[in-house]
Amino acid sequence: MSEQKLHVETLAVQAGYTPKNGEPRICPIVQSTTYKYDDAQSVADLFDLKTEGFFYTRLANPTVDCLEKKIAALEGGVACVCTSSGQAANSNAILNVARAGDHIVACSSLYGGTVSLFTNTLKKCGIEFTYVLPSVTEEELQAAIRPNTKAVFAETLCNPSVVVLDIEKFAKVAHANGLPLIVDNTFPTPILCRPFEWGADIVTHSTTKYMDGHATSIGGAIVEKGGFDWSNGKFPEFCNPDTSYHGLVYTKNFPQCPYSVKMRAQWIRDLGNPQLPFSAFLTMLGMETLHLRMERHSQNALALAKFLESHPKVAWVNYPGLESSPDHKLAQKYLPNGCSGVMCFGVKGGKAAGERLMDNLKLAAIVVHVADVRTCVLHPASMTHRQLSEAELTAAGVSPDLIRLSVGIENIDDLCADFDQALQKA
Ligand SMILES: *Cc1c(COP(=O)(O)O)cnc(C)c1O
Repeated sequence: MSEQKLHVETLAVQAGYTPKNGEPRICPIVQSTTYKYDDAQSVADLFDLKTEGFFYTRLANPTVDCLEKKIAALEGGVACVCTSSGQAANSNAILNVARAGDHIVACSSLYGGTVSLFTNTLKKCGIEFTYVLPSVTEEELQAAIRPNTKAVFAETLCNPSVVVLDIEKFAKVAHANGLPLIVDNTFPTPILCRPFEWGADIVTHSTTKYMDGHATSIGGAIVEKGGFDWSNGKFPEFCNPDTSYHGLVYTKNFPQCPYSVKMRAQWIRDLGNPQLPFSAFLTMLGMETLHLRMERHSQNALALAKFLESHPKVAWVNYPGLESSPDHKLAQKYLPNGCSGVMCFGVKGGKAAGERLMDNLKLAAIVVHVADVRTCVLHPASMTHRQLSEAELTAAGVSPDLIRLSVGIENIDDLCADFDQALQKA
């Protein structure tokens, strides 16, 4: 049965691993760094990428391979490469298309770790970034693109500002300039949004979040849609012989998925940041219920957002599922089945009152995490985003009083009661 025709719920449960007669029912953990072969030629052919198989777990591992196939199927892409973290996924995704002297246009509503990666570390590597607001017009976006621009980067649903990306607008301008649109789809997951259907070319994930869903494993993923024209003159590394891989030409030898093969052959090989088999196993276990969890996360978040919005002690709530949200229209288009489990709000009395609220919550814990089954809160300005300057905080949509709330899958009445009692003490 063609996996492309199946619904995401079925793919979440079944895609990635199909045991043959007598094999284990669920994908086993292959906790082995290496693989044994009977003759030298077999290994040589594997190194030449002439045959498919495993030779060293830094490059590929059977357990991780199952997770990669599951995520590729869910996103509707041709291939997926899993990484050690979401940070590694975004680093590799950029490095695969840009080198020193190149330029990337990025939407300014970004996860704090991504801002830091772009403005500090990748800048040190010689890659320059220009930031545009999510509300940018097509003309303004066009004006940000330079002759040496290699990609447009954005988050579909931004962590933590929950800004919804107008994927079609960004894709249109990127494609008019022969550039791929790379989107970080961590918060919606392919259950709530499949960016390839709206024009994205590469999707990245922090699988650490909803895909794992239980706060057990750090991991990332990079998915390729397939069909992007890497031979348009802007990406010579894709269509000229790779001297570091005895003359491999990615677009010629692997026309189906040149981006993913180049990713594995160069960046996973040389930076050594693959996902580990045990993490992949736990993440796959989580993903088997991803569709059920995303539905409940979204329902609970909408109900709690409405409760907070009507609460006299709450100053403001931003959740794209609320009609009051500036992104409600975009959410109806791109997130019709739910807006995921994360929202932001501020308490009357500002930052100090917000801290009192957080200290008094009993069910919702203060943790540096989002997107698992347990409800949790965090104060980005003093925690995840504390390395950002005030200007960067504003650009990332993080006000000093902003509390990021990740709504779990507990009973909604219990959650509302917990916030109510804590708000009374704020
Ligand atoms: C958490 C997160 C990352 C980084 O992922 P890690 O797995 O923590 O390295 C990147 N992008 C987004 C949107 C995230 O939420």
